[in-house]
Amino acid sequence: MTLILKVDPVNPEITKIRTAAEILRKGGLVAFPTETVYGLGADALNPNAVRKIFEAKNRPLDNPIIVHICDKSQLFELVEEVPEWVIKAVEILWPGPVTFVLKKRKIVPNEVTAGLPTVAIRMPAHPVALALIREAGRPIAAPSANLSGKPSPTTGEHVIRDMYGRVDVIIDAGETFFGVESTVIDATEDPPIVLRPGPMTVEELEQIVGKRFRIHPVALGRSKISIPKAPGMKYRHYAPEARLILIEGDHEKVMKTILEIYYRYKSLGKKVALLITRETRNKLGISRDVIEIGSRENLYTVAKNLFKSLRMLDEKSYDIGICEGFELRGVGLAIMNRLRKAASEIINS
Ligand code: AMP
Ligand code: MG
Repeated sequence: MTLILKVDPVNPEITKIRTAAEILRKGGLVAFPTETVYGLGADALNPNAVRKIFEAKNRPLDNPIIVHICDKSQLFELVEEVPEWVIKAVEILWPGPVTFVLKKRKIVPNEVTAGLPTVAIRMPAHPVALALIREAGRPIAAPSANLSGKPSPTTGEHVIRDMYGRVDVIIDAGETFFGVESTVIDATEDPPIVLRPGPMTVEELEQIVGKRFRIHPVALGRSKISIPKAPGMKYRHYAPEARLILIEGDHEKVMKTILEIYYRYKSLGKKVALLITRETRNKLGISRDVIEIGSRENLYTVAKNLFKSLRMLDEKSYDIGICEGFELRGVGLAIMNRLRKAASEIINS
């Protein structure tokens, strides 16, 4: 069965961390908090342990996993040909929510990289994650600790709901800090390519690194815009059971469309929730059926509440969630990437 360890997020109890680390070393699975979302960890150098991650999550085998380290020097044991700009960048950015994809060394099993010649690496900025990796004495491969296709977990309770009985240990240290997964940069290309936007924004990265980055079309979450999904079509990520409708465009028009769609589905007898910011809620003057997702004044609040709000749709048995869109700048890019992937339907007003 699953051992649940409640730990202090800032000063983790070392005996509990050692218990979890010992299980990792023996090839077990440990869910643990990072500053982004909860991860589902296994010994990155043990192919059998890594395979268990895919089983526990129902994860497609062709989806590679990020390797987590606790010391910058470990990077050179796992990859070769680290460009000078990456060496300088990690000096500034690690520990932190940025992942670099680099050419892998032989020591990294194909199970981790889904057969790719590259591996994604990061050093997380969470005391619990760092202590666990250090005590395990090896790098930890970890995707997000949710069932594949579901919203990523940002609290210990989310992990328990998805993973209890499927993993050996769940370390519960409360809520994560950022709430969306790390920014992923393909550093094997020049200019580097943003594969997934995250808490560290493209604008900040470009300034720190002194290079322009390219943004991969997938990073915009645009693979399926404006097409209402056929029922049962499993192309979605981060998806609640409820039908999520994302309204993009000029904010005044967005607010009008939100109301129209809300009342249309209400009149059809559906249970409808509005996933909107404090500002939008105040302007619309609605308080019932609102799941407040943060403030437009600081989009990091929206990032932090995003997955929790998507999960709430199902916890409260809503049929439909209607969500406002955000600008594709700063952390807004990371939010829109998740929302577009989670949405059943995207409407441009
Ligand atoms: P997850 O940790 O489940 O949120 O997903 C990790 C993500 O990191 C994957 O879906 C990929 O987008 C990315 N990733 C991991 N390894 C690689 C790699 N070798 N090359 C490109 N992208 C990668
Ligand atoms: Mg994931």
